Amino acid sequence: MNQDVVIVGGGIVGCAIADRLARAGVAVCLVERDVLGGAATAASMGHLVVLDDDPAELTLSSYSCALWRELAPLLPDNADYRTTGTLWIARDAAEMAEAERKRTRLAAAGVNGELLTAQQLAACEPALAPNLAGGLRVAADAVVYPPVVAAWLARRAVAAGARLRCGVAVSAIGDGEVVLDDGSRLRARHIVVANGCSVPELLSGAPVRRRKGHLLITTRLQPQVRHQLVELGYVQSAHGEASESVAFNVQPRPTGQLLLGSTREFDAPAGSVTPRLIARLVERAVEFLPGLAGRTALRAWTGFRPTTPDHRPLIGPWPLRAGVWLAGGHEGLGVTTALGTAELLAAQLLDLPLPFDAAPYAPGRFTSAVASHVH
Ligand SMILES: Cc1cc2nc3c(=O)[nH]c(=O)nc-3n(C[C@H](O)[C@H](O)[C@H](O)COP(=O)(O)OP(=O)(O)OC[C@H]3O[C@@H](n4cnc5c(N)ncnc54)[C@H](O)[C@@H]3O)c2cc1C
Repeated sequence: MNQDVVIVGGGIVGCAIADRLARAGVAVCLVERDVLGGAATAASMGHLVVLDDDPAELTLSSYSCALWRELAPLLPDNADYRTTGTLWIARDAAEMAEAERKRTRLAAAGVNGELLTAQQLAACEPALAPNLAGGLRVAADAVVYPPVVAAWLARRAVAAGARLRCGVAVSAIGDGEVVLDDGSRLRARHIVVANGCSVPELLSGAPVRRRKGHLLITTRLQPQVRHQLVELGYVQSAHGEASESVAFNVQPRPTGQLLLGSTREFDAPAGSVTPRLIARLVERAVEFLPGLAGRTALRAWTGFRPTTPDHRPLIGPWPLRAGVWLAGGHEGLGVTTALGTAELLAAQLLDLPLPFDAAPYAPGRFTSAVASHVH
């Protein structure tokens, strides 16, 4: 059967694109080799956060967070959408100066942030360590449970006419078709590759590299914190090139559990939990939240973030193959930016007005390197 678009990968990005295109009347088939919203989407924290360390990241994340706020009233209860806000924590005067710069950058994009003195920070989150310098509160940021949203978006796409093929993988991309691992083929005018860390398996030379992360969740506690708490040094950890880094990042879950992140590792060979890194993650968290010491951890797990060399996602046409589009490389921000990605990709594919300049995300920015790799 022919369709207009085959989407490869049913993570949050592929599901958001399927939903967006199906609701625009496009005949879509979404192919997922495993389960919807598994892989990185299931492993993630689900923090919906505006990040601003690169203007393109600020544009995509602030636009996407606004779309999440529009979507929130429609989401099912078990999507656990909560407007917790983000509290960026400064340990010293230098980080407080960074908080001020961050507030200015966010304000330029229409995102409100409120600087907090040490006293205001302590009043806002009394469980934090007493020796902190202050912080920046971004009240509109939120949290969500990503695998539920991915499956919900896919179901909404199906209700709008999309086809769903789960449990079968795309093994190759041909001219105007994908080859499935059961030997069958699906023909389509457009093929959207949105298969997370596995993009290079289908598009040789695509610059997507895995970056492992650990998370840990506690048992249920009396609520200790209200905001997603993140140290200001987080961005350095996220965008630095260190082979291993740990940054304080804690999320209150609606169950009373605390979700603790996060580590970043390049070139980790396997997905197993490394006790040494869990110990570092917990130590870091206890520095900021001393009351965590002695609490019981329920479970720890890992996932792989799909990263690109410049830490920006790849959204748009894949220049080395006509009719092939790419939506990948969202690194540690792909839950947040899935909705904006779907809008940007749909606008390009359907030739609609762009919501913002697509150039910073164009996969073609790496094409010459890729071409020399491929040939
Ligand atoms: C520890 C950790 C914490 C994170 N925390 C956050 C956070 O707080 N906020 C945030 O915004 N982001 C966060 N992220 C990042 C976010 O999870 C990812 O950027 C996002 O989930 C990427 O979505 P995706 O759909 O591109 O990829 P994935 O979720 O990996 O989905 C890709 C899908 O493609 C399927 N697939 C692969 N190959 C094939 C094939 N050949 N055929 C068919 N299907 C295929 C896979 O089975 C999978 O379901 C975190 C990530 C990690 C690892």
